[in-house]
Amino acid sequence: MEIHVDKDACVGCGLCVKDCPMHVYELQDNVSVAVRPNNCMGCLSCHEICPAQALEHRASTPPGDTTSTSRSVKCFGRWSDERRIH
Ligand code: SF4
Ligand code: SF4
Repeated sequence: MEIHVDKDACVGCGLCVKDCPMHVYELQDNVSVAVRPNNCMGCLSCHEICPAQALEHRASTPPGDTTSTSRSVKCFGRWSDERRIH
């Protein structure tokens, strides 16, 4: 699982830092950085709150799987089932 922050798009508002229940993000030099990506539980709250649409979650693609790995609900659900924190 990768969390990608578009550094050019991020406006450094810090909303994702405050909103994420799993403390995935930190602001560094006025840009959000996903410092704890493995904490992510896939709630998508950060996607909803980011005013710059700067966030993208990418699931790992199993060998031979040619389906999209972008932020689709289907893909994200499969990832969160595998990596959900208990
Ligand atoms: S999807 Fe939820 S848990 Fe994951 S980084 Fe975004 S707000 Fe945090
Ligand atoms: S909510 Fe979006 S624009 Fe604001 S700090 Fe996070 S990634 Fe950057």
